[in-house]
Amino acid sequence: MNIARWLKLCIVASISLVLAIQSPIYTASATREVADDPVQSAESAESAESTESVGAEVKPMAAIYAERRALLEQASQATGIPWTTLAAIDQYERSITVANPKKRTPSKGLIGIYYSDQEWAGMLNPNPQDTDIRSIAIFGGKGRDGSGDGVADRGNDLDLLSTMASRLLGVGTSPDKLRKALSSYYRNARAVERIEQFIKLYENFDRLDLHEHAFPLPRRSIYSYRSTWGANRSWGGARMHEGTDLFAGHGSPVRSTCYGIVEVKGWNNYGGWRIGLRDLNNVYHYYAHLSGYDKSIKQGDIVQPGQVLGWVGSSGYGKPGTQGKFPPHLHFGLYRDNGKTEWSFDPYPSLRRWEQEDRQRSK
Ligand SMILES: [Zn+2]
Repeated sequence: MNIARWLKLCIVASISLVLAIQSPIYTASATREVADDPVQSAESAESAESTESVGAEVKPMAAIYAERRALLEQASQATGIPWTTLAAIDQYERSITVANPKKRTPSKGLIGIYYSDQEWAGMLNPNPQDTDIRSIAIFGGKGRDGSGDGVADRGNDLDLLSTMASRLLGVGTSPDKLRKALSSYYRNARAVERIEQFIKLYENFDRLDLHEHAFPLPRRSIYSYRSTWGANRSWGGARMHEGTDLFAGHGSPVRSTCYGIVEVKGWNNYGGWRIGLRDLNNVYHYYAHLSGYDKSIKQGDIVQPGQVLGWVGSSGYGKPGTQGKFPPHLHFGLYRDNGKTEWSFDPYPSLRRWEQEDRQRSK
């Protein structure tokens, strides 16, 4: 079989993923966000950073995680909302800002919860930058003072957390009540699903520092891949190849590329035995054509970088169990969620970086 045919099969696999994503559970009726520049934002979103700007300072990520955790704990003590819930909302909001760079200004502080001028100050407030809690209240703005300095400042982390908490606290702090509050706040089933996934990750690991990645194949295995993003765009007149094909021997271990949750697992007519993980950047990691899964892996499970998920195979392109219609390889795709929809972006640069990071770590 020639390369053109492999690519065709993979393109079909990509289409079927998109169809799966568009299942009814994801068709939220009303959402707060709309896509603006998917390609550009996806590029910037996946850059691996060891530092981040906070105000005028550039700080190492370890310090940022520690300070952010302290703030979240402080807000948790004041409100009774678990720090993991506040952390999940904060991280979800940050991911939505990354995916909508033209609509949302990134936070300069440690907390990434976003409010527009109108949301914060109130729709008809003549001063969209208002920080006066009395006039904000008069105009029905959401802005609150959480730091106790008498002003409601969107640049203040505690004010942001307090404002979010006050929206959630109306109904109570039990997991059920908080889910209800999140549903009415976001009016978007996807957003609530993401936040609950993030809560699970934070509860499981009890830390914020969960952004390490790994290459999907073991460092010492024999494999080859090249950038095949967008290849064969004209095939079928519809979609391009949404991923990277990694060629490796049948039965080579396939590993988790992230700290994440198993969102999808099972047969798909084109992707064969496939698995999809959601990470804390709100990126979906999609693996297709496996020969099988590690027995311990179930939908909803938490996984970590390097953990074996299954094995390279040639499954797909037919009814369940079909295999061998093309040479064994791993089709790997990355999809970003902007709160409303998902789109694929080229995984090749990320794969190259994770491969290098694996090599560095093993030195
Ligand atoms: Zn492919």
